[in-house]
Amino acid sequence: MYQNTLEFAKQKDEQDELKSFRNRFHHPIINGEPTVYFTGNSLGLQPKAVKDYINVELEDWAQWGVEGHFHGRNPWFSYHELLTKKMAKVVGCKPIETVVMGSLSTNVHLLMVSFYRPEGKRTKIICEAKAFPSDQYILETQVLHHRLNPEETIIEISPRAGEELIKEEDVLKAIAETGDELALVMIGGVSYYTGQLFDMKTIAAAGHAVGAKVGFDLAHAAGNINLQLHDWNVDFAAWCTYKYLNSGPGGVSGIFIHERHATNKDLVRFGGWWGQDKDTRFLMEKGFDPIPTAEGWQHSNAPIMLMAPLNASLDLFEEAGMERIGEKRDDMTAYLEFIINSIKSDKVEFEIITPTDKTKRGAQLSIAAKGQGKKLFDILTERNVIADWREPNVIRIAPTPMYNSYEDCWKFGQILSESIQ
Ligand SMILES: *Cc1c(COP(=O)(O)O)cnc(C)c1O
Repeated sequence: MYQNTLEFAKQKDEQDELKSFRNRFHHPIINGEPTVYFTGNSLGLQPKAVKDYINVELEDWAQWGVEGHFHGRNPWFSYHELLTKKMAKVVGCKPIETVVMGSLSTNVHLLMVSFYRPEGKRTKIICEAKAFPSDQYILETQVLHHRLNPEETIIEISPRAGEELIKEEDVLKAIAETGDELALVMIGGVSYYTGQLFDMKTIAAAGHAVGAKVGFDLAHAAGNINLQLHDWNVDFAAWCTYKYLNSGPGGVSGIFIHERHATNKDLVRFGGWWGQDKDTRFLMEKGFDPIPTAEGWQHSNAPIMLMAPLNASLDLFEEAGMERIGEKRDDMTAYLEFIINSIKSDKVEFEIITPTDKTKRGAQLSIAAKGQGKKLFDILTERNVIADWREPNVIRIAPTPMYNSYEDCWKFGQILSESIQ
């Protein structure tokens, strides 16, 4: 049903309900030429509205100084609340279950303070092998913090010999086998390397069945996958917002804490004044009394200049809606897959290692290129394809529904085909 022609790609773009969003982002021009920007999974493009959103805050700061906390157009005292409802829609949860704060790696540590509580023989953590390095370091150092041995405590689930993807049944089997020794399952919801999407609902149920907590790093899932974190009964999650959520380099992070935990003021956590009950926050007295929502995990007052770009981007997500984004994601990813698979070469052997099943992936395709992989990647870069290289041999590309076009996919195919000749 797909065709590898410019006419076909243009026709698909014409029919695309989200086509007008492309023009609401700045698209990089490198060496005087437009790029094929397929790295929305690493750093999303800048919404054109970002400048205005930041300017409002700069002007209010100039005009009001500290009084901007209450008298600005978007009072800073409660600025993060502007983002909560919009974020809740993006990740499928209740507004009391999410808050925008801090940064991803820090937030995972903070959430583990509440949700990794090794006790007696229940100490073990199950995660995926070759997790994103930050996640590996987080788990390792958390285990050391509890005076346990990472080698004995962390159980990594690997793909089977000769395979690239992790079999979900292997995760479920490990959970069942670890049983009452399992304290926590902590997995990347979408693998940054292969693009594999895990069935979070099933994994959460399996973890709960043996009495463990289940959390996900959603760096590659937020704004990409149609998440239902509340219904899936996930205990906690965290994500960055500079990837699919376009908040800019080093942008602020989001956290999810399931209602049943978020409302539990007795749950152990590290406290800070911004997590304190709002009526007593400024009494400056002893006694931490957390807000009975995800906000009770906040520490510091909100980084307004980082939240403004996220606010601009979340307004675009509101307008587009995750449902339509998901439909375009599946169709455009399948189109790009079709194009790549229609290109053959006897010089460079390559293979898409991302699952072909659209319920097992998001917008990312990971291409394993044998032998000349890095050289191929360098040639693509020279020709203004902005993709991403991961050792040892993977080129990651992500057609992002918000601002990529079917024509981008066709163009990528043309450049790939020329590059391997
Ligand atoms: C991108 C990414 C990170 C980045 O962490 P920061 O704290 O935002 O630097 C962490 N984990 C995963 C899985 C990622 O993909």
